[in-house]
Amino acid sequence: MEKCIFCAIVKGEIPATKIFEDDLVLAFMDIAPINPGHLLVIPKEHHSSPSTIPEICAGRIFFIASRLGIALKRALPADGFNLHLADGSCAGQVVPHAHLHVIPRLADDGFHWNWRQKRYENDSARDGLADRIREKLKL
Ligand code: AMP
Ligand code: ZN
Repeated sequence: MEKCIFCAIVKGEIPATKIFEDDLVLAFMDIAPINPGHLLVIPKEHHSSPSTIPEICAGRIFFIASRLGIALKRALPADGFNLHLADGSCAGQVVPHAHLHVIPRLADDGFHWNWRQKRYENDSARDGLADRIREKLKL
C-alpha cells in the first residue's frame, strides 16, 4: 500500500487540527473546508472502504459525527450539517482511507445538493431490484 496520509495523521507523522479521539476513531479539521468547521471522522485502523470497518467502530464513527454536528451548531453560526461519505473514486473518494465528512450548513450558504433523481419504469422494475439487493445483503 502507498503511504496513507490519514494513517500518517493517526500516527502523528503529519500535522492535523484534531478535535476528538478515542481508541477507535479520530476527528480532525478538513484542510480545504466546504464551509468553515468542516470535519472528517476516520477509523484509526486503515480501511479504504467503510464495508470492512468492524460494526463497533462504524457505529462509533456515526455517533461521534452526529455529536460533532451538534457541536458545530453550537460553536458556529450553523443551521444544520451534512454527513457525507464517498466509497470509491466513482463516488468522489480521493483519500483511500474511509472518512465521514461532517459539513456545517447555513440556510443561505448557497450550496445545493444537485443530484438528478430518476424514476423506476414501473413497480416490478423497482421490486425486482429490491429482491436482488436483499439476496446480496450479507451482514
Ligand atoms: P474525499 O474526496 O471524500 O476523499 O475527501 C477527502 C478530504 O480530505 C477532502 O475534503 C480534503 O480536503 C481532505 N484532506 C486531504 N488531505 C488532508 C489533510 N492532510 N488534512 C486534512 N484534510 C485533508
Ligand atoms: Zn490509512
